[in-house]
Amino acid sequence: MSEQNFDVVVLGGGSGGYAAALRAVQLGLTVGLIEKGKLGGTCLHVGCIPTKALLHSAEVADVSREAGKYGVKTTFDGVDIAAVTAFREGIVASKYKGLQGLIKARGITVIAGEGHLVSPTTVQVGDDTIVGKNVILATGSYSRSLPGLEIGGRVITSEQALELDYIPKKVAVLGGGVIGVEFASVWKSFGADVSIIEALPHLVPNEEESVSKQLERAFRKRGIEFSLGIRFKSVTQDENGVVVTLENGTTVEADILLVAVGRGPSTAGLGFDEVGVTMDRGFVLTNERLATNLPGVYAVGDIVPGLQLAHRGFQQGIFVAEEIAGLNPIVVEDINIPKITYCDPEVASVGYSEAKAAEKFGADKIATYEYNLGGNGKSSILGTSGSIKLVRVTDGPIIGVHMIGARVGELIGEGQLIVNWEAYPEDITPLVHAHPTQNEALGEAFMALAGKPLHA
Ligand code: FAD
Repeated sequence: MSEQNFDVVVLGGGSGGYAAALRAVQLGLTVGLIEKGKLGGTCLHVGCIPTKALLHSAEVADVSREAGKYGVKTTFDGVDIAAVTAFREGIVASKYKGLQGLIKARGITVIAGEGHLVSPTTVQVGDDTIVGKNVILATGSYSRSLPGLEIGGRVITSEQALELDYIPKKVAVLGGGVIGVEFASVWKSFGADVSIIEALPHLVPNEEESVSKQLERAFRKRGIEFSLGIRFKSVTQDENGVVVTLENGTTVEADILLVAVGRGPSTAGLGFDEVGVTMDRGFVLTNERLATNLPGVYAVGDIVPGLQLAHRGFQQGIFVAEEIAGLNPIVVEDINIPKITYCDPEVASVGYSEAKAAEKFGADKIATYEYNLGGNGKSSILGTSGSIKLVRVTDGPIIGVHMIGARVGELIGEGQLIVNWEAYPEDITPLVHAHPTQNEALGEAFMALAGKPLHA
């Protein structure tokens, strides 16, 4: 039984929590970081990193199958899931080791165990009392299910999907959002038949509609099936497989069902409510400076309503550490945070969609331009199709960049700068985009929006 005192106590060592801890010690504050599992949280162990390793294996499988198209002789002999797992685990292990080393080298005190908030300044971990002048809540999220749908057996979440030691012959995916389409893309590349069920009218429904439609075309071409605008009614399973019955009576049969219907905040039973933190359906409510209603108590990452992304968590963690240190950091709104869906083809965006911009500024006050990647040399070499769509305020700044195509996630950084700096197309057209890159397509789109298209 002991009491430890810090300037900052961070509850949860995932993307949001560890970023807060690193920045806080950098600013001269003492930090106690409480983690019940592994430092790095969801993103490092069961989220971003392992899934992107899987997607890379999937891409290599596709490239191997199509190698002949590029004049390379090879035989595709299938996917060795044990080797895929070893590759994925190796990446995670090396990043985990690096993170542990960094946390140690920076002098952050890591307290292993499950923490419970017992007052606005105190977290209890077993018999130990951890006291902070400030407390940052960063306990992350869990895979949600739906009423009447129990996880277990052949009905799995993304965590169990990562653990599968075989490639299912047929997979059903409930939810066509980012996690659902990423796994669908992987399994298809690994040779499975895949069928997605999405209640909303489009795949990746949070993206620009024209992008969703292109993704649907691309998935259809790849042989991925999907049912849109329809809910599941019931799910049954036995030793032979799982049957999903949809509300129109049709059925989808599969070896496994991945439930990818979103993630809920991991806040139940941790004392937040009892101590008086204002919550909404389990999420912790904060002001724009990420302060809760209790003085000195902040929240970051997936437990804060809005985008559930690792880089948002990092940014929020850094923000709160700087806020506590009195640096008065700049608020970044969710609309200015880039989003990437790493399936094949990739989807990336930042800022307003056309529909949201029309809602906010009026349909007659905005202009859009869509550049087809078919006109881009590098895209042709990569064998990708897709587009870049820009949304601007008429005679005003660019407020949205939406892309689909191979590796467009690597291009969204420029879009992010432009949207965050509220740049006009005319500000950007003098900047030179290297040739031949897909980045050039972005330059072409800016030129077209500024009224001087070169190739379009
Ligand atoms: P977490 O990373 O969940 O960390 C919370 C930590 O708190 C955990 O380590 C947990 O053990 C700990 N904890 C919880 N309660 C307690 C307690 N009481 N005491 C002590 N410790 C506690 N985001 C992207 O930006 N890019 C991607 O490509 C991407 N891919 C994803 C793929 C999948 C399959 C999933 C599931 C998520 C993905 N995400 C991605 C989302 C990303 O992982 C999350 O947004 C991010 O991890 C949230 O960070 P966090 O710090 O809020 O929570």
